[in-house]
Amino acid sequence: MRVRFWGTRGSIATPGPDTIRFGGNTSCVEVTTNDGGCFILDCGTGARALGGALLANRSGPLSVTILLSHTHWDHIQGFPFFAPLFVPGNQITVCGPEGCARSLREVLSGQMEFTYFPVEIGQLPASIAFRELAEGVHEMGGVRILAQYLHHPAMTLGYRIEADGASVAYLCDHEPFAETLTHDPASVAEDEPIAHEGDRRHAHFMAGAGLVIHDAQYTPEEYPAKRNWGHSTYEYAVDLAGAAGVRELALTHHDPAHDDAFVENIARRARAYAKERGYSLHVRCANEGLDLTVEPHGVEHLVASRFASHAERETLRGMRILVVDDDPDIRALARLALTQDGHSVTEAASGREALALIEVQAPDLLVLDLLMPVQNGLDVLRILRSNTATAELPVVVLTAMDDELYTRAGFEGGATDYVTKPFTIPQLAARVRACLTRSPGRLT
Ligand SMILES: [Zn+2]
Ligand SMILES: [Zn+2]
Repeated sequence: MRVRFWGTRGSIATPGPDTIRFGGNTSCVEVTTNDGGCFILDCGTGARALGGALLANRSGPLSVTILLSHTHWDHIQGFPFFAPLFVPGNQITVCGPEGCARSLREVLSGQMEFTYFPVEIGQLPASIAFRELAEGVHEMGGVRILAQYLHHPAMTLGYRIEADGASVAYLCDHEPFAETLTHDPASVAEDEPIAHEGDRRHAHFMAGAGLVIHDAQYTPEEYPAKRNWGHSTYEYAVDLAGAAGVRELALTHHDPAHDDAFVENIARRARAYAKERGYSLHVRCANEGLDLTVEPHGVEHLVASRFASHAERETLRGMRILVVDDDPDIRALARLALTQDGHSVTEAASGREALALIEVQAPDLLVLDLLMPVQNGLDVLRILRSNTATAELPVVVLTAMDDELYTRAGFEGGATDYVTKPFTIPQLAARVRACLTRSPGRLT
């Protein structure tokens, strides 16, 4: 597989003399398989030059698959300027995460309304198909594409493309699920050193990949002020890629405020960090124009048993979910997120009320606040886990930021997953989807 970077900037295009080396165009990566299959990861402003190059080199109509991580500006603004869309006969398939408030086509049409752009989506001469993807394994033109939810304020997918005996994972925009990446080695002897199920799955998703392209927008010094903005540090990317046995890591989604010297320094620091941690991982900051060949390496195919099939996913709609929080605003937000996904939601304002409701209603999943006045979430969790009927009940706990003590107690008390407040509707929806798909008894 060949991988070429056409846009490496996050948030907003940043052209100018200070960004010549790493580039000013926003997220866009071209992946070409040996038999000429063309996949485009995100359609930031880099897609304009890519479109021109594809037209210049074509022999006959083009067939292109666009994989959108999500629809924030910096991942779609190049779409209306992607020239192959203006040529009749070209086949463009646009994929993105399913289950957002509007369809993928509607969202992309929005930025092409007459107020913003002279050509509406329905007027584009190419043949365009839209395909909304859930977490799981997808076949596209003989290529295996895996998708997995990332941790970002919008519904966002990471992709893993497996072809030619090699794998490339693209993971933008994403931030650590847990502030505390690893279990406290002094207090718990764990087989699995990564503490949060989400971070563990994130590492697993990269397992043995020849190349991982990862968000690293912030430095470790900047990150605390940007927590919950949905981006990673190089340390997180290096730690997870290192643990996953990845060969090569390309850091990208560079912050618009970081000039070439700054990004160069991030690359140096990331390499030193990887060395210090003992990983045999080649690390670089991706620049516009970077062209890489990904050779077969390690794990060719990711074992996909953690994903639900389409039929299984269908049965996961309409679950009974109990939301337990003393804050009525949080309950209302959670209700909105979960009813939108087709679940039926009941609410409890205290741990005591929750335990009573669980006995009567036997919910399929619990969203549980840890800090509540009457009977707190940890007590509830302890009672549930000691009772055979509820020992396996999936529980997504809600924790406050900067509350490491409770977070650790939640992990150790048997929480299935946890979401940090404040959360957005897509964040909670994605966690609950992932949690239901993976709960014991549903999947092995
Ligand atoms: Zn972005
Ligand atoms: Zn984003």
